[in-house]
Amino acid sequence: MQIVFQDPFASLNKRKTVEEIISFPLLVHDQYLSKKERHARVTGLLELVGLRPQHSGVYPRQLSGGQCQRVNIARALALHPKLLVLDEAVSAVDVSIQAQILNLLRELQQRLSLTYLFVTHDLAVVRYMANTIAVMYLGRIVESGPREMLFADPQHPYTHALLASIPPEPGTPTRAQIELREAAGSETLPSGCRFHPRCPLGTREICQTVDPMLRATGLDHSVACHFPQSADSLAAETRR
Ligand code: SF4
Repeated sequence: MQIVFQDPFASLNKRKTVEEIISFPLLVHDQYLSKKERHARVTGLLELVGLRPQHSGVYPRQLSGGQCQRVNIARALALHPKLLVLDEAVSAVDVSIQAQILNLLRELQQRLSLTYLFVTHDLAVVRYMANTIAVMYLGRIVESGPREMLFADPQHPYTHALLASIPPEPGTPTRAQIELREAAGSETLPSGCRFHPRCPLGTREICQTVDPMLRATGLDHSVACHFPQSADSLAAETRR
């Protein structure tokens, strides 16, 4: 397993060249490689992420944010991981570069049979990248399921509110708007359901006292809520 962090500059040692950065995992974990073999591996990794062999001699400050993130990806791939954790890996790069990095990641996933754990708050990125989605609130998974199902038929009030915030695509029906309550800032976790201070149904006693478990509501679909339901029925219930 390897990880790619959010800030492409801060995650690279600015005193090392690109070659030194990418070859470091090889130096630690693949000590029998000769210098020549390491150099060949670095060159191959640079090409794999869309950089040129000449980039091996430059320092991170000489690269753009997108190029630095490619170096981070190359370093993460150096030891042939099966799982790559991508922690907000495109949120710090320019929007015009984001699509290039996402396309690169999808291509690498196919080519190297990688599994990604992709952490992001950007729903457009979620829709483009994810096969399976886990929605988190205050450190807990509150809903999970396959992408198509989660976008088409979510059941948790927080997921409804998140999806309702996306502008609808032309020709598609608008989603029912779910009004969240203002949550008073607090350093301690709320009792019962962690989402109850913001949930339209959060005044119910069970919501304030019993923490809902993540339960299967269908094939591959799980929800942590005492009253899972569609956005339309939740909107109707909160109007009553
Ligand atoms: S358990 Fe209650 S407060 Fe929590 S999300 Fe469900 S309805 Fe809202």
